[in-house]
Amino acid sequence: MSERKHEEVLYSSFQNTEEGKKELYEYSKKKILEGQPQTNYNSLTKLPALRLFFYEAGEIIRAKPEQKYAVLVMDITQFKAVNEFLGRSEGDRLLRFIGECLAEYVRSRPDTAASHVRADNFCLFTSYREKGELAELAIDLKRRVEELPFAYRVILSIGICASEETEPAVNYLKDCAAIAMAEIKGKYYADYKFFSEDMRTKMLQEKQIESDVVGALKNGDIVPYIQPKVYMDTGEIVGGEALARWKYQGGLMRPDRFIPVIERNGMIIEVDRCIWEQVFRYQRKVMDEGRTPVPISINVSRMHIYDKNHMNDVLYGLRDKYRVPVEYIPLELTESAFAPGEDEIQGRMQKLREQGFIISMDDFGSGYSSLNMLKARELDEIKVDKEFMGDLDREKSRIVLKHLLAMLHELNVDIIVEGVETEAQRDFLLENNCRRAQGFLYYRPMPLDDFDALMKSGA
Ligand code: C2E
Ligand code: CA
Ligand code: CA
Repeated sequence: MSERKHEEVLYSSFQNTEEGKKELYEYSKKKILEGQPQTNYNSLTKLPALRLFFYEAGEIIRAKPEQKYAVLVMDITQFKAVNEFLGRSEGDRLLRFIGECLAEYVRSRPDTAASHVRADNFCLFTSYREKGELAELAIDLKRRVEELPFAYRVILSIGICASEETEPAVNYLKDCAAIAMAEIKGKYYADYKFFSEDMRTKMLQEKQIESDVVGALKNGDIVPYIQPKVYMDTGEIVGGEALARWKYQGGLMRPDRFIPVIERNGMIIEVDRCIWEQVFRYQRKVMDEGRTPVPISINVSRMHIYDKNHMNDVLYGLRDKYRVPVEYIPLELTESAFAPGEDEIQGRMQKLREQGFIISMDDFGSGYSSLNMLKARELDEIKVDKEFMGDLDREKSRIVLKHLLAMLHELNVDIIVEGVETEAQRDFLLENNCRRAQGFLYYRPMPLDDFDALMKSGA
């Protein structure tokens, strides 16, 4: 870990306690006295580095403990792109400009300190009376940056933590402001966000999920539920989809709550594998019992491109271990993973396709460039996103879907529609030659054993 990163972790590990505050203050002071004067400043912007910032903020609070204080953290959306498209020197010019703005606030506002933390990451500490003042400050800074003549539209994300307590721990305020900033990062029109306790609760829950997932995998608490896919005209079950469920604290946790979290820390790869293996094992069992399986598709996160144990090898390994023909395990990959620039995951999928795996584009129509991707990519099946079902009572939506289905037919890919909940939706789809569907009108996702019983009953 780099020295700077190490210090940040160290600071963050302090709690908002008297002891924590004192310890941080003493640590900062010691380091500053020890260090070379130049290491206390960022060489590009000449703003204080983080430890000097903490020290200065601590001094301000000591001098005027009765005031309220806030920390603003900010970074530039897509700063990497600025460097890539315009070159390092333009990137540096932008950072220097932001540095100057912050230095000016330090001069013009009482009890204020600023820091250039690293790369495009800055923070500002200031006293305040009303929260509105802080919002104005954020807006003013954003306006200045946006008005800077620059060949790229620069967007600043700003997170603010305004403490109501006296003598807050500055590192804690900074962490909270960073949580608020993460909430709006990448959202084009968001200006700034104040930290709230809800965010903290959410963050703690997410941390809990991240740490509990390892044990859950070990204990077999993450299991596939199967949602049958049907022919709508006959009701016959023609397949299924494995959807992860986590037996958690006496209930069942839905993937929407844990998959986005474990996609961030990479554990999704283990979870996917665990689900895949259970599906392969089940298909083997069906074959051993002398029945012909229906295909049960598995979801493949695009995060697998970061996996050092290649997902293809994992799938070949499962195929060989369970001796299951791969057409019984179609792969669902969300639409955005077919976009231009996703060549790596596409390369892997094509290799799998050459081995006989069926590739299905999930959530079709939920993104922006769906139609172009159809021209460029090789695939077997399209799953039309459930969004389309949501507003079928509007004439325009019906027109769009009708023509979309006609086009997909002509492209000669298999079509399935997800999210079919009503008879009206079913009728519309059947009228437009779409037979296959997955939705609550037919079946909800169910435990593997229930699915097995359903199949044995000859549905
Ligand atoms: P998805 O792949 O698009 O899965 C379909 C989702 O739609 C499922 O939600 C399913 O329960 C829900 N659904 C099915 N029929 C209906 C309907 O008629 N109406 C409505 N409103 N919803 C319906 P679920 O199980 O909560 O899964 C959510 C998402 O989590 C999945 O969306 C998929 O992206 C992800 N996911 C689930 N299991 C896995 C997994 O094992 N690995 C990975 N990587 N992702 C998974
Ligand atoms: Ca899916
Ligand atoms: Ca889907």
